[in-house]
Amino acid sequence: MMLKTLREIPAEAETVSHQLMLRAAMMRKLAAGIYSFLPLGLRTLHKVEQIVREEMDAAGAQELLMPAILPAEYYQESGRWDVFGPEMFRLRDRGARDFCLGPTHEEIFTQIVKGEVSSYRQLPLTLYQMQTKYRDERRPRFGVMRSREFIMKDAYSFDRDEAGLDVSYQSMYRAYCNAFKRMGLDFIVVDADSGAMGGSGSQEFMVKSDSGEDTVAYCSACGYAANDEKAACVPEKLEKEEPKAMAKIHTPKAGTIEELVDFLHTDEKHFAKTLIYTAGEETIAVMVRGDREVNETKLANLLGVTELALAEAETVMQVTGAKVGFAGPIGLSVPVYCDLEVAEMSNFIVGANETDYHYENVNNSDFTPVKIADLRTITEGDCCPRCGKPVSTTRGVEVGHIFKLGTKYTEALGCSYLDENGVAQNIIMGCYGIGINRTMAAVIEQNNDENGVIWPVSVAPYHVIVVPVNCANEEQMAMAEDIYKKLQARGIEVLLDDREERPGVKFKDADLIGIPVRITVGKKAGEGLVEYKLRKEQTITEYAADEAVDAIAPAGTVSG
Ligand code: ATP
Ligand code: MG
Repeated sequence: MMLKTLREIPAEAETVSHQLMLRAAMMRKLAAGIYSFLPLGLRTLHKVEQIVREEMDAAGAQELLMPAILPAEYYQESGRWDVFGPEMFRLRDRGARDFCLGPTHEEIFTQIVKGEVSSYRQLPLTLYQMQTKYRDERRPRFGVMRSREFIMKDAYSFDRDEAGLDVSYQSMYRAYCNAFKRMGLDFIVVDADSGAMGGSGSQEFMVKSDSGEDTVAYCSACGYAANDEKAACVPEKLEKEEPKAMAKIHTPKAGTIEELVDFLHTDEKHFAKTLIYTAGEETIAVMVRGDREVNETKLANLLGVTELALAEAETVMQVTGAKVGFAGPIGLSVPVYCDLEVAEMSNFIVGANETDYHYENVNNSDFTPVKIADLRTITEGDCCPRCGKPVSTTRGVEVGHIFKLGTKYTEALGCSYLDENGVAQNIIMGCYGIGINRTMAAVIEQNNDENGVIWPVSVAPYHVIVVPVNCANEEQMAMAEDIYKKLQARGIEVLLDDREERPGVKFKDADLIGIPVRITVGKKAGEGLVEYKLRKEQTITEYAADEAVDAIAPAGTVSG
């Protein structure tokens, strides 16, 4: 077997799963965000895929396979040829026709269904594939967690009406729960932002992990859970003060909230920060309380834009007439959007649009925002938007996403059916994705110790590893091979470590690659005894060789 394990932690790997996938020779990097799966890793990848496939099939979804190289026209029809921007890998054929490497397949499934389905009798329908996706991510990282080529299970449901969509959606919801449970994952389902995709609702399946790139807010009191991009914020009610006289104050070099807090010996809550954004073609300002963060997802949704970024220093100087750090709402020429909480403040401090100056005792009557809305990000301890109790936050890895799309794609591509009265109706769609490689990494994030991976049996590359301590010893080798064959005959996936290595090296590798059961054949082979150890436990039990085999798979277990 090609299995060159690494003792050292590879310098480029920050997360445990990335480190272990390299150390255990599951995969190797080919380019940034592009990985080859080696024999050991591929076995687990296939198992993750197979569990998902079984749950899809059980839910009545049908598997098919679409190409990865896709003509531009369908994405042009839906408008996403432009929306995807640099994340889409684009190419031209020899006839100068535009193609992309599929980042996701809504358009293509819609196009297929348009050709195959014409009557209400053919609905509902859920189709899926296990297929390679391409996204030129801005920041590929954490190995296959955020890579540029990855396998996705993507499913799409097609229904006559919203009620039908609800049924299809719930059925995918259950299939996802089953699949992730079978892999031993500790996950929560959270409300997600529907964003630029439109649609009437979406949920993400989040695996709790410190290395997660998402933050999830949840309420233990009422069960509310949402991605922090989405979680609604309840403004903190502060006591209204009598307005004092507004005054310009000299705040030399205090261009950040921390510097201002030091300089004025006051609290972050007494500031409203004003941030300048470039939103599509427009420049706008956003205000949140000094201790809060702007929620860019909420802001982009409010503005109806897909491209949103903090403005360059040059732009900030242009619109405020001051260095970065001194923007404020008073006398600003660009539209000002205000978070709900700012409307609760009185006698606060804002930038004066003049380098080294702020205004104090500013009140909401001193400026006119174009809109006041929920524009901040929820934090630990904030009020739950559903029940008012304090929420908790946790980091999570998004392994799956389910989404009620509605008619966005079917309308754009003209995918309809004839109802009982022969009237054409738009088909209602849902879409459902699971990142297969990312899910595998997430399982490792939740199942490891200082020695390596601890695979749940359901996705372990092998169930058992048989380790003869001394391969030169014929008695040991004969017994090890006998156990190996018997287990195989009983349908157990078993690995025989017949390398001429020191036992310490073999045990280390067995731990590193995380095989659930280890059978060691050593000195007591002569007495017919072996050692049996579970990866997740410390205890070593002595068994007669056949007893060990029976403990794993009772006699009569059918192969395969
Ligand atoms: P993210 O917010 O993490 O970029 P996304 O919202 O772009 O994810 P979807 O388009 O909903 O993801 O894709 C469905 C699933 O595909 C995700 O839930 C995730 O498991 C997986 N996935 C998405 N992007 C990547 C990636 N770059 N590398 C690995 N898996 C990914
Ligand atoms: Mg993404």
